[in-house]
Amino acid sequence: MKLLFCEDCWDVFKLDTEVRKCKCGKVSGRYLRDETNAEVNGKGISLAIGNGSLYDAIGKMKVVASPDRDFFLENTTVVCWVRPNEGPGNPHTRVSKNIDADHKCHQWPTDRLF
Ligand SMILES: [Zn+2]
Repeated sequence: MKLLFCEDCWDVFKLDTEVRKCKCGKVSGRYLRDETNAEVNGKGISLAIGNGSLYDAIGKMKVVASPDRDFFLENTTVVCWVRPNEGPGNPHTRVSKNIDADHKCHQWPTDRLF
């Protein structure tokens, strides 16, 4: 699962096929139609959560009989990688300087809502 982190507002958000932005608006990105490749505006930090480790941790959390902090610290760790926004370290993501401009073109014109 691809996520973006904004160093300014500390927002972390999951990419979707619609362009998403952090709370302050500096960082944006989206999955392409294949939902494997993505494009980002290059202003944030790319993160990836290992889907298998997330599902495994959720499964353990749901079945534990008497949860205590130590159980979760030892058994529900999720793998997360910090990666560059493109290149060999993140081969399915590319930086697109036009993503923010393209997104504005697709926004619903708010002056026509009322
Ligand atoms: Zn931000």
